[in-house]
Amino acid sequence: AIAVKNLVKTFGGSTVLHGIDLEIEQGQVSCVIGPSGSGKSTLLRCMAFLEESTKGTIAVNGEVLGFAENAKGVRERVPAAVNRQIRSQIGMVFQQFNLWPHMTALGNVSEALKTVHKMSRKDAEERAMAQLVKVGLDGRAGHYPSQLSGGQQQRVAIARALALNPKIMLFDEPTSSLDPELTGEVLNVMRDLAAEGMTMVVVSHEIGFAATVGQQIIFLDHGKVLFTGPPQDVFKRPRNSRLEQFLDTYI
Ligand code: ATP
Ligand code: MG
Repeated sequence: AIAVKNLVKTFGGSTVLHGIDLEIEQGQVSCVIGPSGSGKSTLLRCMAFLEESTKGTIAVNGEVLGFAENAKGVRERVPAAVNRQIRSQIGMVFQQFNLWPHMTALGNVSEALKTVHKMSRKDAEERAMAQLVKVGLDGRAGHYPSQLSGGQQQRVAIARALALNPKIMLFDEPTSSLDPELTGEVLNVMRDLAAEGMTMVVVSHEIGFAATVGQQIIFLDHGKVLFTGPPQDVFKRPRNSRLEQFLDTYI
């Protein structure tokens, strides 16, 4: 689970997150929707501590990540070792797959297991292969990224994140750079992951996925959460006029 309290993020002089409060429940799929520039990526990056928040707190499974805050709002940086430990519970998948071009699919998935987790080559490749099986790519283990389709590359990126055994997976527009016919294969892998009970936060314009797989929809607009609730409530009337406008644009 992730608890976000009064999260504020400013870049230079401009505030892009205006005091976000959110609960990401364990075992649930939360889908973040909202217009371009509303702060979705920034929110996700703060949750993974890839970005430092300006104010507020983020707790992952009860442990504060990044900065702790006392009752007076005085912030204190959490020790690096603690941040590292908490971050190791979070896997992230981006719009750009960010695979290492000079490594095969198997190499991409097993690399961190060898270098960071100090696993033997044999053990690392075994675990990596199991993840490639899971995303349906065991037949492509020896292929380099340039020899894989975008959808296959993104599935390798998912396998790479899963190999590190995360408790929570964050996805930032994982299908946005894919042709429509390749989007489905990535969404199917994510659907399977959700069915296994993985805690997931998914930023996506795939409203169909959000409606069928999401348990919580979070609508972000200009750095504020304007709606959270189950998907069936998103389509209930009367709804938030900004949300209405957004849905009219996207579906
Ligand atoms: P999109 O749907 O286009 O991906 P988004 O909802 O993910 O948009 P963010 O990328 O979080 O939006 O950006 C929110 C705002 O923060 C934007 O106005 C953006 O220009 C600004 N922003 C994001 N990153 C930085 C940065 N590193 N420095 C300065 N401004 C930034
Ligand atoms: Mg974004």
